[in-house]
Amino acid sequence: NPWTNSIRSSAHIHRDNGISVLVTGAAGFIGSHVSLALKNRGDGVVGVDNFNNYYSPSLKRTRQSLLDFHGVYIVDGDINDYRLLSMLFNTVPFTHVMHLAAQVGVQYAIDNPYVYVHNNIASFITLLERCKVSNPQPAVVWASSGSVYGIQNKNNNPFSEMDRVDLPSTIYASTKRTGEEIARTYNRLHGLSITALRFFTVYGPWGRPDMAYFSFIKNILTGEPITMYRANRAKNHLHLARDFVYIDDIVKGCVASLDTSGKSTGSGGSKNGSAPYRVFNLGNGSPVTVPELVTVLEDNLKMKATKDVMDMCGNGDDSFAYVNISLAEKEIGFKPTTDLQTGLKEFVKWYLWYYGKPFDCDRT
Ligand code: NAD
Repeated sequence: NPWTNSIRSSAHIHRDNGISVLVTGAAGFIGSHVSLALKNRGDGVVGVDNFNNYYSPSLKRTRQSLLDFHGVYIVDGDINDYRLLSMLFNTVPFTHVMHLAAQVGVQYAIDNPYVYVHNNIASFITLLERCKVSNPQPAVVWASSGSVYGIQNKNNNPFSEMDRVDLPSTIYASTKRTGEEIARTYNRLHGLSITALRFFTVYGPWGRPDMAYFSFIKNILTGEPITMYRANRAKNHLHLARDFVYIDDIVKGCVASLDTSGKSTGSGGSKNGSAPYRVFNLGNGSPVTVPELVTVLEDNLKMKATKDVMDMCGNGDDSFAYVNISLAEKEIGFKPTTDLQTGLKEFVKWYLWYYGKPFDCDRT
């Protein structure tokens, strides 16, 4: 196999505890950061990514080059391919799988629902089927999403893991929720150790161009107006608020989840009560409104945005979403430390470096 030597060298472990991780979606935003962090602390890391063109394949290739420079090899392939997964597992006895590959995006799902079923549900089953027959079985940590909480009016209280998750408002959220049920079943039936991480809105350098903060910075730089939606709930005209969490904090949460994931116990393992199934919210724990976010971007760029404010249709019950992270803090020591000002400053610096500085923008 042409990849074998590269895979073996990428999986080379530099420290005593023998951790070797397969990272799916390694050329993605979160996957590239997590791969680098694991490699830098001495774990063996092999990535896999299909470099789909949902957003800029060239951004994914640049992340790949960066990882390559640091000794992380990314196999160009699709995790729906069981034979590919088998080749990887036969080459490296992975102790952990960090499953971050997915079809992301909420709007795209409206016209392309099957792409989500294929990449978020079918591929997850294929991956778990391969993990199931590995000896020893790897512990699996994977990305669910805060979107599983869907539309529910919490009276501005944060979501906790005990909240209902039967009201997804998008196909993307439905596939993540389905993934959680599938994961739980594999844990129960096959003794796989599985941790589901419900990420909220992750931002930072090397981020995803389809996300709102990307279009905000672009619009500020080009003078295009930014549309800010308000929820008309109880006529209070609340601005949309989300839980923005900085990429470095999410990476720490992923690594801590991996380090505490416990052992898979093989078929029937959880009947013995030993293979853990865990779910954690990973966010920042405080809401940020869109105007607040835009103001921080404006301050960093020393430029003013043109703003259009519009009222949203619908009841706006999912207009205000943030998260309780106390379970993750208690169980895995998760404590985000990056405030919005610091995180966005890093993002803006990276954006201007990567995309170049428009003639009228002060980079200092
Ligand atoms: P991303 O799109 O940057 O990364 C996903 C990567 O997976 C991409 O590089 C893509 O090419 C790859 N991929 C998709 N389908 C594949 C397949 N079948 N085989 C191989 N590779 C495949 O997204 P991200 O923001 O880094 O998200 C990572 C994970 O975190 C995803 O599971 C996502 O649903 C979840 N998540 C992200 C956020 C966020 O704010 N970024 C929030 C909640 C959940």
